[in-house]
Amino acid sequence: MELPHVTALECTLCGASYDPEQLLYTCPEHEGVRGILELRYDYGEVLDRFDEELDGAIDSQWKYRAFLPVDPSVDPVSLGEGGTPLLNAPQLGAELGIDVRVKDEGRNPTGVLKDRASSVGVTKARAAGYDVVTCASTGNAAASLAGYAARGSIPCRIFVPGDAPEGKLAQPLVYGADVLAVEGSYDEAYDLSMAVTERYGWYNRNAAINPFLVEGKRTVGHELAEQTRDSVPDWVVFAMGDGCTVYGGWRGFREFDELGFVERTPRFLGVQAEGASAIHDAFHDHDDVDDVAETVADSIAVGRPRNTVKACKALSESDGDAVVVSDEEILAAERLLGHTEGIYAEPAGATPVAGVRAARRAGIIEPDDSVVVVVTGNGLKDTDAALSAGGEVDPIAPTIEEIDSRYGESA
Ligand SMILES: *Cc1c(COP(=O)(O)O)cnc(C)c1O
Ligand SMILES: [Zn+2]
Repeated sequence: MELPHVTALECTLCGASYDPEQLLYTCPEHEGVRGILELRYDYGEVLDRFDEELDGAIDSQWKYRAFLPVDPSVDPVSLGEGGTPLLNAPQLGAELGIDVRVKDEGRNPTGVLKDRASSVGVTKARAAGYDVVTCASTGNAAASLAGYAARGSIPCRIFVPGDAPEGKLAQPLVYGADVLAVEGSYDEAYDLSMAVTERYGWYNRNAAINPFLVEGKRTVGHELAEQTRDSVPDWVVFAMGDGCTVYGGWRGFREFDELGFVERTPRFLGVQAEGASAIHDAFHDHDDVDDVAETVADSIAVGRPRNTVKACKALSESDGDAVVVSDEEILAAERLLGHTEGIYAEPAGATPVAGVRAARRAGIIEPDDSVVVVVTGNGLKDTDAALSAGGEVDPIAPTIEEIDSRYGESA
């Protein structure tokens, strides 16, 4: 594995520096997974290899390959992830009373933004000759990893909490993964996957700790910067679970700003569910933090986020903020996205829209501000939640009179 453009793997706590060509998950100097590592790049080298036009034509995230910690001679394991559209959303904007655009990440190959990270992770695992890839997940990371493992022809074993939505378990099964439903919470599934990684040496995709995974999520920031070059929004809005997605997005955007590709950076708004609000609470210095995780938005139902520090960094460095929203507001946002713009989101994917409403109410987002909401996941992932958001079907008699009585001129 040759990484000429990566200078170090650096501990975000103590600053210790490690060889980026080895696989290290966290800094061994600290207890547990506290010592989150981060890659450092030589931007001279990166720019030497980056000769793309920033013209908005984005085939896949591999347009930004020069920025990814992957050996330049390795073929990526790809399903065409990234390159998702940034949609104008005038009807949604009219409802929210604000200028809003939607980055639709539900269009990724397995239906979630996480495909950006999975593609990088499986590419690295395959190049390094790992026999098995694994992760713990509330569902989406598992399905995403399983899809890329199938594509890269590596066995995949995943740990999911017992109560993950069925739709989310069907997908990795079809991709051929072993799906181990842990009788317990996401946090228990996570701890088990870590113990197994240590004992068996499988490649662990857990984006919260695998420093290479979050690097893939930077490409959503690169794309947002490229797609908004002429019109950088005042705010970019992300849902937060473990917190690494908002951080990846921020780092990508900031990199493009530092390199002079865009003129400024947006403020980042992180949105959590009321029932799983640990990052929000830490950002606002609440000390009554508990680790329950109860929300209809299962993808962000994280009681003990592993990337609180990084997420808070993204929010504070960007002069951003954090808000929480209720499950009712999340389901209403799912319905609103569908009704106004034809965009089908799972609850976590719609959460940023609910967050915009909350932030407008709180005066965080001003009426003249422009906003990009990042819809992180597709509605097909969670049909049960969609049914609670969408309402009831109408049973009707198979007669034309029935239709006349509803839609006919005299009706
Ligand atoms: C994983 C996920 C998130 C949250 O990402 P974190 O990095 O855990 O904060 C949000 N939305 C969807 C659809 C996800 O799958
Ligand atoms: Zn350290």
